[in-house]
Order: sequence, then C-alpha cells, then structure tokens
Amino acid sequence: MSRALPQPATLRPVEVAAPERFAHSESRKAMFRLDQDMIVTIDGPAASGKTATAEELARVLGLQVLSTGAMYRCATAIAMEHKIAREHTFRLLEIVRKSHMHFNWHAKTEEGRPSPEIIAFGKSYAKRITDEEVTSNVSEFSEVIPLRELMVGMQRDIAKAHPRLITEGRDQGSVVFPDADVKFFLWASPRVRAERRRQQLLVKKGIDRDLGELEKEIAARDENDRRKPYGALVQPEDALSINSDKLDLAGVVALMRDHVLAKARA
Ligand code: C5P
Repeated sequence: MSRALPQPATLRPVEVAAPERFAHSESRKAMFRLDQDMIVTIDGPAASGKTATAEELARVLGLQVLSTGAMYRCATAIAMEHKIAREHTFRLLEIVRKSHMHFNWHAKTEEGRPSPEIIAFGKSYAKRITDEEVTSNVSEFSEVIPLRELMVGMQRDIAKAHPRLITEGRDQGSVVFPDADVKFFLWASPRVRAERRRQQLLVKKGIDRDLGELEKEIAARDENDRRKPYGALVQPEDALSINSDKLDLAGVVALMRDHVLAKARA
C-alpha cells in the first residue's frame, strides 16, 4: 500500500544557521552538524529519479547539488561533436580538458530547486546532454578509465569548493566519497523506470517511445554500468537503500530528509 505523502512544495526547507567554513579533512568526522560541511551521496541505476531527488533534497536541506551523470554526458557530447572515438583516449582527455567543463551554480529549475547548468567551451550543454544520441553512448564513454580518473578528480575538487553538497551518480558513495556523511542507494524496478522515462520524454520532448524498448535500453545500461571495471554501479554497504517503485518524489525526499536529520543528531 502506498503511503499518504506530502507534495514536494509542502516539504519545508530545514532551517539551519549559516555554515561555518572549514576544509574537509582526509579522514572525515564521525558526526556532522546540519549547519556545517556535509557530503551526501545518492547512487543508483539509470532513470531511478536521482537527479530530481537530489535537487529537491538540496532545496529542502539548503545544500548544493552535483549531477555527475551530467559530467559524463557532457564529455560524451564533446567527443561526439569532435568525432573522437572512445579508443582515442589521449585526444578524448585533451578535448575534455580544453573545454573547461564547469557548472553555473546559480541555475535553478522552474520549481526553484538548485540545478547547476553544465557549461563547456563557454556554452551551455544542458539541453544537448539529454539527447537520445548522448544517452545511448554515454555508458560506453564512461568506461574509459583515464576519463573516469579525470572526472573523479574534478568531482573531489568541486566538493572542496562546495563543501555542503549532495552528489549523485553511480560511484559517489563507493569510489569518489567513501567517507561521505550520508549515503543513499536509490532504485526502482526496470518497468517502473521505463514508465517514468517514457512519461518524461513525452512531456519534455514530445517523443512517444515504446515502453518495452525503453525497458530493454534501461536494462542494457544497468548491465553495462554494473560491469565497469572501475566506478561500477554498486550499492555501498553503508548506504540506505530506497526502492521508489511505490513512492513519488516527495515520498523519497521525505525519507531521505528524515534520515539525514536523524544521522546529524546521532
Ligand atoms: O545519471 P545519468 O543517467 O545521467 O548518467 C549517465 C551515464 O553516465 C550512466 O549511464 C553511467 O554510464 C555514467 N555515469 C557513471 N558514473 C557516474 C555517473 C554517471 O559512469 N558517477
């Protein structure tokens, strides 16, 4: 039975005092306070709702948010634009470095959620990275180990500059921030994820895709993401696992918010 859940707008931001800035130490504190630096990771398979969830949780908790999928997607878009195959590792890294990939941290969604916009070569790639062409190639490009090493380094640098951060992807709690303060693993069955993706494509892009085909593509991307020799999709042992099959966005965010508040007080 699904729970009676508040809508996102009714999730009021948690009030905290202004953060006291201090650098992240290599070995992180066992306890954290809501008004200080904290890293929250959300990992999970394709189309599990990580991005919207991370953005809404960031709004509620007053944190910043990083979509690491956007970084891999942007690198893929750049490679395709410059006709660089993933085997040409040297050229791939060179062009990604030259692009000065970064985020505009002030961007927000229409609903007022923080949603940093990815920029490369001085222009926005926000739309381009959601193209079908990029979506179907990103998993293979993100297998390139030197590209992953570059991205992981950039993600850690971002966390230093933005130390109150929710970061979402596949390997955030396992590889990039193994000592994060709070870790989540968000998932849903392939059928539910395909239904959500179909709806998203219909509403946002006016594209009507076959549900069965979408489900197959999602399952293939999962498989590819799980088989990666480095940065594979895994559930960190210390992550709270959330199945969102029967929960809407507000329900997932409410669970996560309560878990962060409980851990912060512990
Ligand atoms: O999260 P999103 O679906 O936008 O990610 C796109 C792709 O980028 C994933 O399918 C995965 O192959 C790759 N990715 C990754 N590691 C991350 C985030 C994304 O390999 N931390």
